[in-house]
Amino acid sequence: MTMPIYMDHNATTPVDPRVVEAMLPCFSEHFGNAASRTHPYGWAASKLVEDARGGVASAVGANPEEIVFTSGATESNNLAIKGISAALKGRRNHVVTCATEHKAVLDPCAALQRDGFEVTVLPVDPNGRLDPERVREALTPRTALASIMLANNETGTLHDVAAIAAICEERGVVVHCDATQAAGKVATDVRSLGVDLLSLSAHKVYGPKGVGALFVRRGRPRLHLVPILDGGGHEQGIRSGTLNVAGAVGFARALAIAVAEMPAEGARVAALRDRLERAVTSRLEAVTVNGDVERRLPNTSNMSFAGVDGAALLAGLREVAVASGSACTSADPKPSHVLIAMGRSRELANASIRFSLGRSNTADEVDVVAEAVVREVTRLRSNSPLWRK
Ligand SMILES: *Cc1c(COP(=O)(O)O)cnc(C)c1O
Repeated sequence: MTMPIYMDHNATTPVDPRVVEAMLPCFSEHFGNAASRTHPYGWAASKLVEDARGGVASAVGANPEEIVFTSGATESNNLAIKGISAALKGRRNHVVTCATEHKAVLDPCAALQRDGFEVTVLPVDPNGRLDPERVREALTPRTALASIMLANNETGTLHDVAAIAAICEERGVVVHCDATQAAGKVATDVRSLGVDLLSLSAHKVYGPKGVGALFVRRGRPRLHLVPILDGGGHEQGIRSGTLNVAGAVGFARALAIAVAEMPAEGARVAALRDRLERAVTSRLEAVTVNGDVERRLPNTSNMSFAGVDGAALLAGLREVAVASGSACTSADPKPSHVLIAMGRSRELANASIRFSLGRSNTADEVDVVAEAVVREVTRLRSNSPLWRK
């Protein structure tokens, strides 16, 4: 079986060979437990972790002691949202988030709601943008936290997190940002964003799966986080558990490469993304590009094809590995909550495809994929009673 062209880099990325190379000595040579203080095996592992911490920190403009290693962005988001809320519970019982956030933010917020917190889920405009003024209106003296992502995983739309954070700071509200899709693709600097907490994941930036980080701002006013995992008190007591040394090393290497190559690779991938959209929209009518085309990730294109069945389209597109605008795990496809929040109909949301490009993609691949999309949409529309012109 020949594998399809991979255009699902927002789901995960292959590990860069330079990252694998950096990780390899951590498995059998430097296998020590970074928490072992009594012998050189532990010291060597600890040194690797601390160097990695410095690398991750410098990739996002943080100080090393502000980086907590986790198992990935799902854990980072949970730790940030539940950890701050638990610390402020009693004094502040309100959390603000946005309708287009990843489930790894929306679900922890829903868990807080079951716990007695009030949760405000802010709407977005048809381009998926959150107006910072909406955040201002939502804040109350009881608001503990606002959790707003930097780049959306489905559409690539970027939020004005710096403006949102400035509003929150005036009101003493802690700001968390899920920057999982932004890091390595667009400038992601914790100080210019002005956030208190920021989530990252290695496997979205050509690093290994199962490792991520949470930036936790130091300094005043002091942030207090209640840990989710109790145990050995690793990571300054915020995240117990033996450190994933190889994962941390790979993560730091992956981020360093992504940041160094960002200007050139961002431009290259944006040109490919634009080539794909041009090829498709110039040959098909009734195609909607979802997201803010002026302010989005360079690698992401989300397109809706009116009058076609999304599942049939995906099934027909055998040449390419992409994500659809629906969770097609059940018989009844559930349309993407992101596209629905942007005001798309169920039908259009289900007839959407996310193309997320990456390092492996070439112009030739883009042409093959565009050809396949045009062919399948044309075929499905010609057979469809939904499509009349
Ligand atoms: C992938 C992703 C996550 C989850 O990250 P994991 O490391 O896989 O847990 C969270 N938020 C966004 C925006 C993502 O794209």
